[in-house]
Amino acid sequence: MTEKDLPALNIADLQSLLRRREVSPREVLDALRARIEDVDGEVDAYLSTNFEAATKEAEKANVDLPLGGVPIAIKDIISVAGEPCTCASKILRGYRALYDATVIQKLRAAGAIPFGKTNMDEFAMGSSTENSGVKLTRNPWDLSRVPGGSSGGSAAAVAADAAFGALGTDTGGSIRQPAALSGIVGFKPSYGRVSRFGLVAFASSLDQAGPLTKTVRDAALIMNAIAGHDPQDSTCLNEPVPDYTAALGRDLRGVRLGLPKEYMIEGIEPQVKSAIDAAIAQLETLGAEIVDVSLPQTDYAIAVYYILATAEASANLARFDGVRYGHRAEDPKDLLDHYGRTREEGFGPEVKRRIILGTYVLSSGYYDAYYLRAQKVRELIRQDFAKAFEKVDVLISPTSPVPAFKLGERMDDPLQMYLADIFTSPANLAGICGISVPCGFAETDGHRLPVGLQLLGKAFDEGRILQIAHAYEQSTDWHKTRSPIAASMRDV
Ligand code: GLN
Repeated sequence: MTEKDLPALNIADLQSLLRRREVSPREVLDALRARIEDVDGEVDAYLSTNFEAATKEAEKANVDLPLGGVPIAIKDIISVAGEPCTCASKILRGYRALYDATVIQKLRAAGAIPFGKTNMDEFAMGSSTENSGVKLTRNPWDLSRVPGGSSGGSAAAVAADAAFGALGTDTGGSIRQPAALSGIVGFKPSYGRVSRFGLVAFASSLDQAGPLTKTVRDAALIMNAIAGHDPQDSTCLNEPVPDYTAALGRDLRGVRLGLPKEYMIEGIEPQVKSAIDAAIAQLETLGAEIVDVSLPQTDYAIAVYYILATAEASANLARFDGVRYGHRAEDPKDLLDHYGRTREEGFGPEVKRRIILGTYVLSSGYYDAYYLRAQKVRELIRQDFAKAFEKVDVLISPTSPVPAFKLGERMDDPLQMYLADIFTSPANLAGICGISVPCGFAETDGHRLPVGLQLLGKAFDEGRILQIAHAYEQSTDWHKTRSPIAASMRDV
């Protein structure tokens, strides 16, 4: 293993080397830094890095801790004390976080080293990272395509071997979908499993932070570190945290996997469909039983999600008023002009669209027709899942109906972009957990574009979906296939 090859390692393998003292945390960090210098000019996954601070951490890292000496990339919506936290928005340009989010404190307590902040759709609103107010991020499998979003920088960094693992956030799919489009693992915990303290809120009843990694085991390792009660977040449940690696390796005999019939929609790209069909067949050979189930409210999920998420966003984003954080309009005539121009200049078009939508659905006269009704249908969606989970342990579907699309291709059609959240956003509405794991490729214009298989589990049953995803992953080679840009860096 040369230093140049270190960034290709997954977290579990990196840890073994670190614990055997075959490499030092400093060497690991230096190798990662060199890799980022080599590839990030093309991929543009990072908004900021701080290797000076990270080096100090690396020099005193305790490699015997669960993530001791492992550098982790952080989506720029999560507060890391002293570092920029811009949510890729012009309105937060220059803002630095004053404290560590709980997930960062927990990562540090486990020995991990946060060293850089990754690009994203502005305030996590989007599915392609093209809504970033800073720059585009490119998909490491085909640089003319999007990495997915909104945690696209985190996904692209891991896929390019420019991060060993990363944190993202998922409000309607933003961990799972970019993981699928970038050919890596993305894990969304159940609502209340991981603290939201120190995350910039998009939609508070839906947001969860979670890992993006090269393997399922790595996702379990990060979950071991970040899950658990936090008195600073009243929505974070006080439930014991199991060792998520403990169930890995068990076989799938007796496991019941549900196939929601409403998810077999026409819009699924044929190559995605065949990859999913093959994955289902593979899960059957591993001993799982496939059961047809129904989620009757599926048709309403996107509408409900985009009513509730925008309503909550319009309230959450009211705090960006130019008084306390970031951008402030120059020479305002009066207070209203100050608010108006600060927000006009600071927010990008998608964020404005959502604030307007959210304000509308909450306004008197429309509240009952939209917001209140959406809340009622949300409860029906939750019941759909509860009923399905009476029959099966886990649900399976594609993560995204399509593989990575071309940069710019969908920017003029927000509705088309929203509709592609059909398989991911219902899980957030129901508060359940989900994972995307690589399950094949779609060949397009001479490029191999990754396809993701989604597994959804009951609330607080994260161990179960990790177990099944791991068994599937280990029976395939998909996770071993690196993106072309990562492979080109190999010192073979
Ligand atoms: N694509 C969805 C949206 O635009 C999900 C975003 C997210 O999970 N943060 O809202």
